[in-house]
Amino acid sequence: MPDIAPIPAARTEAVAAAMSRFLDFVDVWDSIRMHPDVCDFAFGNPQELPLPEFSAAIQRYAEPKSKDWFAYKRSEPEPRAVVAKALREWRGMAFEPEDIALTPGAFGALATAFRAFVDPGDEVVFSLPPWFLYEPMLLAADAVPVKVRVRADDHDLDLDAIGSALGPRTRAVIVNTPNNPTGRIYPQRTLAALADLLTDASQRWGRTIWLISDEPYARLVFSDAEFRSPSEFYPYTLISYSYGKVLLTPGQRIGWLALSPSIPDRAPLRKVIERTQISGGWLFPNAVMQYAVGDLEQMSIDLAGLEAKRDRLTGELRAAGYHLRPPEGTFYLWVRSPVPDDVMFSRNLADHKILVLPGTTCEAPGYFRISLTATDDMIDRALPALVAASG
Ligand code: PMP
Repeated sequence: MPDIAPIPAARTEAVAAAMSRFLDFVDVWDSIRMHPDVCDFAFGNPQELPLPEFSAAIQRYAEPKSKDWFAYKRSEPEPRAVVAKALREWRGMAFEPEDIALTPGAFGALATAFRAFVDPGDEVVFSLPPWFLYEPMLLAADAVPVKVRVRADDHDLDLDAIGSALGPRTRAVIVNTPNNPTGRIYPQRTLAALADLLTDASQRWGRTIWLISDEPYARLVFSDAEFRSPSEFYPYTLISYSYGKVLLTPGQRIGWLALSPSIPDRAPLRKVIERTQISGGWLFPNAVMQYAVGDLEQMSIDLAGLEAKRDRLTGELRAAGYHLRPPEGTFYLWVRSPVPDDVMFSRNLADHKILVLPGTTCEAPGYFRISLTATDDMIDRALPALVAASG
């Protein structure tokens, strides 16, 4: 054997590097997370037992009812029909069952969209602060990430910045609303103006720019806000969704990728999506989760309880001198760090067993994110130290 070290593919190295900003931090936090006294505000993970009806559904569908029960499953007709019907009622748009591809969460939906609709070297625009995995996932699809920043004052999309980023190689723009990490829901006027921008740019450059609307938090909307999907404003929209947020069960992978019914002639696109899911490594949810979709559609974590936590923490943190804009959706608070070094600030909180996510992990130094999935007891215990750390 020659003495030559085996090396990973060059692409994998770039992907891993793009992830390290976030994953290095996860490793540090993982070493603290299991401590019994920890107040875990770091990630959108459950801190309590799941909804009993969720577990009951999984148990029910784990029992085989035919010889094909656990046969290979692509996007099965029944869950597709359930999702299309739910979307028709919710969005007032004419989704057909075949517009829905079942995926292992929004992750699988995005991976499918990137592979199916973006060529190597194509540019994909998204806004900072982003969900930390857009960039590595785009690199894994050989796409070129192009980043712009949201507006500093209200975290709304910066349409001038997006407009300047659009060019002859732009293939897609990702919009995430309700937004992780800012909690912002983009207003109707912003989405309408974005649609105009994309239509003009598509015409100018002679190819259709896709809008990838990443909406896993679409059902986590607070009572004083209204969610509008970008797909209502721009026809060439692909929507990604996950049940992992509204049910707080991200380990049981299920979600979907939907073609907007406003896209003309969708039959070839539906086929491309299915072929991409197969060639991408069977990017379909497992059989049990597909059977459960009709039940999952009826369930939700306690939204009123989530809103009460938002209101309590927003009020207490503001009173202590923190700057934050109350989120309109998601389960995150996006807070200005009292000191510029958000990593140091977060590490200091970790000394008190309080885990938050520093903004640096999502390219927004000077901020930190609090997940409202923490229990009331964790909030009670953490508040004195959070208040004391306000500066
Ligand atoms: N998009 C965004 C904006 C997210 O926050 C997440 C999860 N944190 C995902 C996609 C992926 O969701 P899932 O793990 O449920 O597939």
